[in-house]
Amino acid sequence: TSAVHPVMADNKDVFDTREASLLVRELRSIFKSGRTKSYDWRISQLKGIERMMEEREKDIVEALHLDLSRPELESIIAEISGLKSASKKAMKELKKWMMSEKVKTSMTTYPSSAEIVPEPLGVVLIISTWNYPFLLSLDPVIGAIAAGNTVVLKPSEVAPATSSLLAKLLDEYLDNSAIRVIEGAVPEATALLEQKWDKILYTGSARVGRIVMAAAARHLTPVILELGGKCPAIVDSNVKLEVCARRIIAGKWAANCGQACISIDYIITTKIFASKLIDALKQALEESFGENPMESKDMSRIVNLFHFKRLVGLLDEDQVTDKIVLGGQRDEKLLKIAPTVLLDVPEDSQIMQEEIFGPLLPILTVETLEESFELINSRQKPLAAYLFTNDEQMKKKFVQNVYAGGMAINDAIIHVTVPGLPFGGVGESGMGAYHGKFSFDAFSHKKGVLYRGFEGDSSLRYPPYTQKKQTL
Ligand code: NAD
Repeated sequence: TSAVHPVMADNKDVFDTREASLLVRELRSIFKSGRTKSYDWRISQLKGIERMMEEREKDIVEALHLDLSRPELESIIAEISGLKSASKKAMKELKKWMMSEKVKTSMTTYPSSAEIVPEPLGVVLIISTWNYPFLLSLDPVIGAIAAGNTVVLKPSEVAPATSSLLAKLLDEYLDNSAIRVIEGAVPEATALLEQKWDKILYTGSARVGRIVMAAAARHLTPVILELGGKCPAIVDSNVKLEVCARRIIAGKWAANCGQACISIDYIITTKIFASKLIDALKQALEESFGENPMESKDMSRIVNLFHFKRLVGLLDEDQVTDKIVLGGQRDEKLLKIAPTVLLDVPEDSQIMQEEIFGPLLPILTVETLEESFELINSRQKPLAAYLFTNDEQMKKKFVQNVYAGGMAINDAIIHVTVPGLPFGGVGESGMGAYHGKFSFDAFSHKKGVLYRGFEGDSSLRYPPYTQKKQTL
């Protein structure tokens, strides 16, 4: 995921720094007019998103199919329902979120009162990625709107059908004077990043995350970086194996063919249990995708030839090829790779060095599962870590000792749907979080306000600092 992608072929009008600067100026004047701050404006925009998801489901599913050959139901569950519930929740809770929060004061300010007032930041930039291109574009937009900001969204050029649909739909359903879509690739993103924003939320690779953060630093702009990493799943031998295997499939191949930031990247299990787990995966894979998964309509394809070749390259590394225990087939014309399981690939192989982001699943084996905590912690902190076990003690130790952006126990991926949980990485997997109220907070400034009257004015703090005052 670290190469520069080609600029969109049909990118007629180049959007340059001058235009980017004009755009920000325009949005800043709209923000200053106060238009986006009212409760009514925020609600009307959130309603617009909800209506868009309801009325244009077919177009969205189609665009996602064009970009990823994504099965319809997977798109509905993973992107459309997610956005519907995110906008519904924001509408339902917005009044509460916008309320200021009273806080206690101390003796030093007595008598007084204080409150925390959430205020919008201003003009925010959202740069998103291609793997869940609708969800990962609009989910942050929901937060930015709910918090009362003006927004520029730059979708990913790697999912061009979705990118152009987003541009069209946002124009049609939302207030175009305050919410804009700029399509394009690196040149457009670069022109945007040169501007002064009040916040940037970026979703994508850590390599570009560094570019975004460096650009933001020039203007002291705060960033949320939603990055990736290698998400591990530990599998204990005491699990209900059939259910566990199905959930691994849902957390890998049924998640956009493994092209998900929180899909399972590799599994760790015990040496003795590995073959049982592989048998269970084999059976569950057959039940899900039939005997010839390359022909299955129930799994997305690899997004483009660049990523196809990257994944094939990981599989064809000498020390890796003979570790394949399931799958391995590929079809360059269709950009398809079969669900592939590998056993005990070497730690220094490329497949264990970079985020896989595709349908390949290495299983590493250890003598005892406790060793796996150290193995995970010896690597960069992942965006998610998973544990499948029935052992309560083990669950506790896992949560307390393993470092990760988020976790799910006895499942994978679906923790992302719990609106009360913050979604975000730590360390190399990112910084900051959003979803539910966290999205509102991500795009708000929490202004601390102290209120005083003119009574009870102690002279202690005023000069002259007499001897008498010092002994008080
Ligand atoms: P990508 O190629 O779509 O890039 C992401 C965005 O960065 C695009 O809008 C692109 O135009 C822009 N971009 C690319 N190069 C740039 C540059 N030099 N300067 C400025 N902008 C630039 O996506 P990707 O990076 O291949 O995304 C995959 C990565 O994203 C994986 O690591 C994955 O784990 C991560 N991801 C994270 C999340 C999350 O929510 N944390 C979600 C999905 C994907």
